Amino acid sequence: MRVLVIGSGAREHALVLAMSKDAEVTALACAPGNAGTASLSESYGVDPADPAAVTVLATKWEADLVVIGPEGPLVAGVADAVRAAGIPVFGPSAAAARIEGSKAFAKDIMTTAGVPTAHSEIVDNPARLDATLSRFGPTWVVKDDGLAAGKGVVVTTDLSKARAHAMTLLDGGHPVLLESFLDGPEVSLFCVVDEAGTVVPLLPAQDFKRVGDNDAGPNTGGMGAYAPLPWIPDGMVDDVVARIIQPVVDEMAKRGAPFSGLLYAGLALTGNGPEVIEFNCRFGDPETQSVLALLRSPLSALLLASARGELAAHPPLEWAEGSSVTVVIAADGYPGRPRTGDLITGAEAEGVLHAGTRRREDGALVSAGGRVLAVVGMGDDLEAARADAYRKVDAVHLAGSHHRTDIGLRALRGEIGIPVAG
Ligand code: AMP
Repeated sequence: MRVLVIGSGAREHALVLAMSKDAEVTALACAPGNAGTASLSESYGVDPADPAAVTVLATKWEADLVVIGPEGPLVAGVADAVRAAGIPVFGPSAAAARIEGSKAFAKDIMTTAGVPTAHSEIVDNPARLDATLSRFGPTWVVKDDGLAAGKGVVVTTDLSKARAHAMTLLDGGHPVLLESFLDGPEVSLFCVVDEAGTVVPLLPAQDFKRVGDNDAGPNTGGMGAYAPLPWIPDGMVDDVVARIIQPVVDEMAKRGAPFSGLLYAGLALTGNGPEVIEFNCRFGDPETQSVLALLRSPLSALLLASARGELAAHPPLEWAEGSSVTVVIAADGYPGRPRTGDLITGAEAEGVLHAGTRRREDGALVSAGGRVLAVVGMGDDLEAARADAYRKVDAVHLAGSHHRTDIGLRALRGEIGIPVAG
């Protein structure tokens, strides 16, 4: 099977790495890719969000499967264009990608499907802002009603900060979504879905959105992750599939926008049970790096089964025993204005995945983005996986870089608890 992966982050490096170990895969390409994917696959410099350019590449390269990593191309209709050219594609249509691209659409689907989620209201007129804010909080949750790569959300107990963020969004012409605060530990559940409505859940993971240890500082695209979750109640995944994922998949099909690809539920395990924080229409970064590191079933067959609507016939997934921890190394200045062009050394270990990297003309590896590397550690348990990840992180040198030191630490200490009902 010839597999073309679209994207350029550590998530795509993880997808390419998994495919490179897959006996079914005979050729691999990544567009545009990064310095890490380039060592495992052919690289093609196309604009990943340009439906025509990606379709031309997939056709010329004779791809048997196209796997689309990021949300931008999906919302832009890249999967539709590739599918229309007769090539199997892992990723939803633009119509189905609205589950991530429009928070208002996602809320509407959830309400109709009877899926528990935060109460929300949209404000598009600054004159209504204060009255609406007064019906929420504390804690206030203020979101951009569109794609913001996880960075458009402010969660705060400070009304003036909530108001300031909402005004910035409104001044920029973006409608604001206010939400009630969901109290409880967060879980990322990835499900492989096909247009026939079959749902195959992957291992649950947890990610770390805030930039600093103990969740200090602003939200980022994600600073780390671990899987599986030792503290999760038995049966939780099946319960979430039955009560949340399947009803949403069925409702989307009913509306003529059946979902196929990766449906990612960001959940809060509240005292009233799991509730949806958000849906994404693609693999999450950095949870994917940890989840795929534990997958033992061939990835290409799983994703092709989704693309062809044949998931019902796919054998049960096999997973490695043990744990995986991913730690993101970010550039100086991230998540604000990251500094780029700094030399990276010590990044050769297995499991050091590239995000914002490039090769200089002299062959040296340099930083080229905010999240630079995602370092994946493995072990028999969470403690061993953490030790493995941080050993590899310590070997990397990048001037001014920063990373969280507490990925998976609260879980390891048994400090994660689900609030009591009430
Ligand atoms: P989103 O971009 O919607 O995933 O939000 C980013 C992060 O903000 C989430 O992963 C949560 O940590 C937090 N968040 C978003 N919405 C809520 C909510 N309603 N209640 C609590 N936390 C939230």
